Amino acid sequence: MASIYDDFSRYFDEAAQFSDMDRGLLEQVKTCNNMYHMSFPVENEAGEIEVIEAYRAQHSHHRLPTKGGIRYSTMVDADEVKGLAALMTFKCAIVDVPFGGAKGGVCIDPYQRSPEFVERVTRRLVIELDHHSFIGPSIDVPAPDYGTGEREMAWIADTYRTLNPHDIDHFGCVTGKPLTLHGIPGRREATGLGVFHGIINCLSDPEAGHNLSPGLDGKRVIVQGLGNVGYHAARELSDHGARIVGIAEHDAGLYDANGLDMEAIAQHRWEHGGIAAFPAGQVFANSQETLEQPCDILVPAALEHQLTVDNADRIQAEVIAEAANAPTTPDADRILRDRGITLIPDLYLNAGGVTVSYFEWLKNLSHVSFDRMLVGAADMQSRRMLDTMQAITGNALPLHERAMLERGPTEIDIVNNSLAKTMGESYERISTLRRERGLPDLRTAAYLYSLELVAQSYVELGFFP
Ligand code: GLU
Repeated sequence: MASIYDDFSRYFDEAAQFSDMDRGLLEQVKTCNNMYHMSFPVENEAGEIEVIEAYRAQHSHHRLPTKGGIRYSTMVDADEVKGLAALMTFKCAIVDVPFGGAKGGVCIDPYQRSPEFVERVTRRLVIELDHHSFIGPSIDVPAPDYGTGEREMAWIADTYRTLNPHDIDHFGCVTGKPLTLHGIPGRREATGLGVFHGIINCLSDPEAGHNLSPGLDGKRVIVQGLGNVGYHAARELSDHGARIVGIAEHDAGLYDANGLDMEAIAQHRWEHGGIAAFPAGQVFANSQETLEQPCDILVPAALEHQLTVDNADRIQAEVIAEAANAPTTPDADRILRDRGITLIPDLYLNAGGVTVSYFEWLKNLSHVSFDRMLVGAADMQSRRMLDTMQAITGNALPLHERAMLERGPTEIDIVNNSLAKTMGESYERISTLRRERGLPDLRTAAYLYSLELVAQSYVELGFFP
């Protein structure tokens, strides 16, 4: 099977055909600048020394710091990390976040290991990265990814801080931190929420190529993966009227055309580590079959290479929303496109996570929360407006309504509204480019938009006079 980096290369080359920029320059945009492969010893649960393999790829330095998650999985290898780092560069360009792309991977299965072992691995990883200048608020900023979360980010922040006590911006060395450790509200939900906005934007686009009406009311959705991204996307979609008809997990899939109780299934998964025993609808022991059931929107939110030449012919969705990274192989992509299925590509659709990571990093560098300096002034402005309206009309609002209208935006209001705006503007950019340049699909448009933007940055930096 081709690697994520091979997939990325093919998508890149297809999009690059539509560009008349210098070929050498485009080669630089495509290539992965740095790759650091580490092997380090860590004491395991049995008190023995275990050698851990880990990688950090920095794909592009046209903007600094470089940015991207760290995944913990036994599937991790250099090519996967390189491909995911490249995707990060293009993601950041699409959502106008001023970072180069990076990605890290550690070859362990965190679900089978003790928290103490995972902590030792994480702290040792930071020492390796720090000693080789592969981490820092102005160098390279990790974040959560598959198999990591707030807990690991807290260990990263703490270790970096211990190693760099004089770096006043030390908390900006990693994003996706717990709220109590200078994280930002909304980061945990951000990727899923971004997926929701991306789907809404595509449904409202009459030229996207699907036959669905705008809005989510009654739309049938199948979600693969109820992890952080899939769960929050599914929750948001169903809160806005969609019907979750299928859920595929690692151990089984469930399908019910009348709709599934997504919250109850998520709760069951949380308690039992799977959904096979949940009593609902039709159960597929081979969870992949769930993806082939009838629906309007299919949301692969798990791992890479889920839609391949083996199942692309049998997918019955009108729209595929790539919440995961690289869930569709290029050959499957071609089959789906030829079958008239609209695909919202990963590099746009799951960029909500890095967008809110950007907000968290900005907050860490400014050492103040977004609402703190705004809220007093916003309160005052609404108070004045309400006083004026009251003076003109002679009518006073009930106290609780007045209190609600007077209140300035909270930090979560600022984060979520800025995320929605970013996803809207980015969609507009790629769909306009697709129209103007006569491109075959949204993925080609997303790649072309970002590769030309990154190439242009290299030109402006003077690398190519
Ligand atoms: N791992 C996430 C991604 O693939 C988040 C990256 C970040 O926030 O830096 O987009």
